[in-house]
Amino acid sequence: MRGIIFVAPPAAGKGTQAKFVCEKYGYEHISTGDLLRKSASEETLEALYIKEKMNSGELVDDSLIIDLLKNRLDDIKSEGFILDGFPRNLYQAELLEQMLDNIKLYVFYIDVDFNVVMKRFTGRISCPTCGRVYNSLIDGLKPKQQNICDSCGSNLVVRSDDNEQTFTRRYEVYSNETEALINYYSDKKVLYHINGNLDEKSIFKQIVNVLEGENNG
Ligand code: AMP
Repeated sequence: MRGIIFVAPPAAGKGTQAKFVCEKYGYEHISTGDLLRKSASEETLEALYIKEKMNSGELVDDSLIIDLLKNRLDDIKSEGFILDGFPRNLYQAELLEQMLDNIKLYVFYIDVDFNVVMKRFTGRISCPTCGRVYNSLIDGLKPKQQNICDSCGSNLVVRSDDNEQTFTRRYEVYSNETEALINYYSDKKVLYHINGNLDEKSIFKQIVNVLEGENNG
């Protein structure tokens, strides 16, 4: 089985690339952010905690996220999966290694400049039903009809943790943790560097090249 991990700053287009990969290869998309948003919508004390962390741009406690993820990983039925938003730090990477047996790992480091992600982030809207992501400020990424999902017709929404202050904090948290993760996976020879400043199709092409053997090895 193949496991794909994206290491990328917030709003780098991880979700979009994950969707492209899933559509092309039939892999399952596991987003820890989505798992958390689902838990956060329940009427529990834990939901309050998760909401507070997400809205401030801080990471949620490792043990909580590991429990959610374990359950989801046990459920995989396809030949591959994408982990979107996990691991976020070295500790999570080490735990993941213990959870994955017989998995060929591909870690894509999508490198994007701060200014580029900030622009992508400001216009980001997504579909709460099918997860498709759009950008109201970037031509080619706008929905055909304003605020309506092209794929399923639902009303598009802005994520509640998508505000400038949260974004800046999330970017900081990401930058602090990334170097260790990159070194960790680079040492294991499973890290692939992707230029994320390009448009989404060009980013996807680089990913496909790796998955289909070019630059692979
Ligand atoms: P994302 O949708 O991946 O951008 O995640 C949104 C928010 O969910 C993050 O800012 C964190 O608060 C939380 N989160 C998502 N994945 C993780 C993770 N692996 N560990 C801790 N917190 C996470």
